[in-house]
Amino acid sequence: MALASPYWNPLLETMEPQRLRELQLKKFKQTLAWAYEHSAFHRSLYQQAGLAPQDVKSWDDVARVPKVDKALLKQAQAQAQEPFPYGSVLSLPLEEVAEFRQTSGTTGKPIYQADSWQDWEWWAECWCYILWSQGYRPSDRVFIPFGYNIFVAFWAGHYACEKIGCEVVPGGVLDTKARVLKVQELEATAMMGTPTYILNMARVARELGLDPAELTIERITCAGEPGASIPATKDRMQRAWGAKVFDHAGATEIGAWSFECREQPGALHVNQAMFLAEIEDLATGEIIEEPGRRGRLVITALDRQAQPCVRFDSQDIIEWDQGSCACGRTFRMIKGGVVGRADDITKVKGVLLSPAAIEEVVRGFAELSDDYEVVVQRVGDSEKITLKVELVPEATGSRESVEPALRDRLRLNTNLGYHLEFHPFGTLPRYEVKARRFKDLRDQH
Ligand SMILES: [Zn+2]
Repeated sequence: MALASPYWNPLLETMEPQRLRELQLKKFKQTLAWAYEHSAFHRSLYQQAGLAPQDVKSWDDVARVPKVDKALLKQAQAQAQEPFPYGSVLSLPLEEVAEFRQTSGTTGKPIYQADSWQDWEWWAECWCYILWSQGYRPSDRVFIPFGYNIFVAFWAGHYACEKIGCEVVPGGVLDTKARVLKVQELEATAMMGTPTYILNMARVARELGLDPAELTIERITCAGEPGASIPATKDRMQRAWGAKVFDHAGATEIGAWSFECREQPGALHVNQAMFLAEIEDLATGEIIEEPGRRGRLVITALDRQAQPCVRFDSQDIIEWDQGSCACGRTFRMIKGGVVGRADDITKVKGVLLSPAAIEEVVRGFAELSDDYEVVVQRVGDSEKITLKVELVPEATGSRESVEPALRDRLRLNTNLGYHLEFHPFGTLPRYEVKARRFKDLRDQH
C-alpha cells in the first residue's frame, strides 16, 4: 500500500464494474462449492433444493441458491452441536478454528461463530478497506473504547489498525471517564464506537469540564447502530467531537461488508471484492439491480471458510444509490446506509414506521437531549405512540416553541401523530453501548 494512495487495494477498488462482477461470480461459485463440500448443513440445504454447485453458472442461477437466515443457523446449532459448539455449519476441522465469537442474541439464543486464522486475517483485511478509505494512516494513534469480549464489535478494527501501521490503544476495561482522560492524555487522533457510546463519551467529557471538540480526535468510525448514517445524529457527533464521523455496517455472521469513505457521500460503499450483496424485493423476492427501490440485503462473504456465509438473509433494508462517488471507487453504494431492519420496521395505525425516521427528527432539534424513548401501545381499538423527550438545560424554557415544531416534523417525516411527553433533563434511560429506545408494548397486557 502506498501512503499517498487513497485506496487500500487500488486494483480492486477501482476495477471496471463488469470485471468486478465477473470476479464476484467466480468467487461465489468457489464459496458455494466450499460450503457444499465441507459443511453438512449447507450440503443438506442444497440437496433438498436439488442443487449442486456445478449447476450454478449464471446470475439467474445464483438467485436460485437457497438462502440461509438466523433461524436456520440457530436450529442447526441446536439440533446437532458436534463438533461442539458449532455443529454442522462448521466447514473446517475443529483444530483449525482460531477465534470464537457469538451474536448478541437480542432475539433469543445466540449463534456461535467460528473463524480460522485465515478468516481472521480476512476480517482484518475487510476492515483495512474501511479504515484506509476514512483516512486512517500509520501516523494515527487510535483509541478503541470497547469491552473486548465474545462479541466481534471492533476486534477486527483493532487488528486492521495494526495491519495499516497505526498505533493502537486498547481501551478495554476502563470506565468512560478513564477512557476520555486517556484520549486527552495520549492525544489520540481516532476512535471507534457505537453512536450511542460516542455521544455518551462526549457527555462524560463535558461533565469532566472538557470540551470534546477541543480534544485531538479527528475521525471516528461507528458501527453497531445506524446512527452515523442518520444525518441529524451524525451531525451531533461531528459537532461534539469536532471530528469527521463515518459509518460502517457489518455483522458477526457476515463480516465487515460496507463503509463510508472520506467523501461522506451520504451512502456506504459495498466492498464488492470481498462480498456479494444482492437486494431482494420484500414482496416478490426479485433481485433489484436498479437504484431507488428498497429491499432486503442477501449477502455472501466471498472467501470466508470456517463458517461460510452464503446468501445470508440479513434482514437489513437497503437500496442502491444512484450516482458514483468522488473518491473514484467503483464499488456500488447503498443510499443512506442500512435504513432499517425487516424485523423492526413495524406497522402502527396501518402506517409503516421505521425507528430511524423518529431518530432523524428528534436529533434534528438542538433543544432536545440525545436521549428519547418511543412507546407504542394499544388503547382500546386504536394505537398510541408516545414520544418522550428531554429539553437540554440551555433550552429549558423553550417547550412552547419546540412542541408544535416537533409534532409537525414528526407528522411530515413519518405520517403519524404522536403523544409528546417532556421529561426533566437526565431522567430518561441512558444507554451505555447500544440503545433500545423503541418499545412496542402492543402484545403486552
Ligand atoms: Zn467514496
